Amino acid sequence: MTRYTGLVDHYRHRLPLAPEARPISLGEGRTPLIRLQNLPSKLGFENELYVKFEGLNPTGSFKDRGMTVAVTQAVHEGARAIICASTGNTSAAAAAYAVRAGITAFVLIPEGKIALGKLAQAVVHGAVVIQVLGNFDDGMRLVKEVGQTTPVSIVNSINPYRLQGQKTAAFEIVEELGRAPDYHCLPVGNAGNISAYWMGYSELTGRTTLASRAFGDAPAYDRTAVTDTRPVMVGYQASGAAPFLRGGPVKVPETVATAIRIGDPQSWDFAWAVHEESGGWFDECDDDQILATQKLLAETEGVFCEPASAASLCGALRDIRSGRIAAGTTVVCTLTGNGLKDPDIVMKKGLAGLIQVPAERSAVEKCLTERMR
Ligand SMILES: *Cc1c(COP(=O)(O)O)cnc(C)c1O
Repeated sequence: MTRYTGLVDHYRHRLPLAPEARPISLGEGRTPLIRLQNLPSKLGFENELYVKFEGLNPTGSFKDRGMTVAVTQAVHEGARAIICASTGNTSAAAAAYAVRAGITAFVLIPEGKIALGKLAQAVVHGAVVIQVLGNFDDGMRLVKEVGQTTPVSIVNSINPYRLQGQKTAAFEIVEELGRAPDYHCLPVGNAGNISAYWMGYSELTGRTTLASRAFGDAPAYDRTAVTDTRPVMVGYQASGAAPFLRGGPVKVPETVATAIRIGDPQSWDFAWAVHEESGGWFDECDDDQILATQKLLAETEGVFCEPASAASLCGALRDIRSGRIAAGTTVVCTLTGNGLKDPDIVMKKGLAGLIQVPAERSAVEKCLTERMR
């Protein structure tokens, strides 16, 4: 057994990195693909339903997959600093990988509405945190502007190396299932991840996609076909931040799912190409449905994802129920981030379920007998 040292080492032949680029890694990737058992039987359907739990990456979200490749390339190019706009998870990953590389991370976060755990990560890793008095889309615009005038490397998903790293999740899924799933469901914010998965699945069939072609050719990398099918790609947005459903940018995006609170997606064209080529669709879930699904998953399967992540499962369950996702098919939902990043959301009701007893055995025993399932 060779030690697993992260996805740059593992998938290097399928990534456009120069042979001499030194991997900047925290052992990201190889996240569990968990087959749901209790939920399908509870809801009475027969699809093979899996969740790819990306919350178990080193900083707790799939952003690590993109960041290891983006920072590896930035350092290879001689960058001394990276910068990103972020709703939280990108800044957490940028901060950690910058430390690993020994360079500076500048992160622009929006005013309010950033999960405390994510902010804590940027702070503890010593990133320079700049709060912009505006939303994510304002931060993104500013990052693009200063990227023109200052020697910093942008590590948002407009950096094509990010999507290259993120495509590796599709590789892992095909390796585990022995083939591509029939449907792949994701939450959609900037739409980089749905474009990256489609690139990953497509390259495993020997094809290119709009996102891979936009990257150009140097250095060339392996796209040898190992399978012949690709999934239907389905993207779910939060109703208050659903530009793909509205047909254009949303000026004031609002949702509890802060990781997808984005009004002007950066990978707009890529995502529409995914929609068309895969025969997929976009749909929306409202905040109540998203939070109910987060809780349902935690209560029935023991998996705690963040609200944005629950959008994928929320939409998938609805589309399975309606038959839009065909009965009996294999479905994978990406759970993009870890629920621990944003405990406030689930603690809104306070400690309503807390039971207090005197420090006596009889009181505890009484409590147990009353509540045995
Ligand atoms: C970044 C992020 C998303 C959205 O991904 P996009 O590539 O922007 O569509 C969804 N969920 C979580 C937890 C994220 O961190």
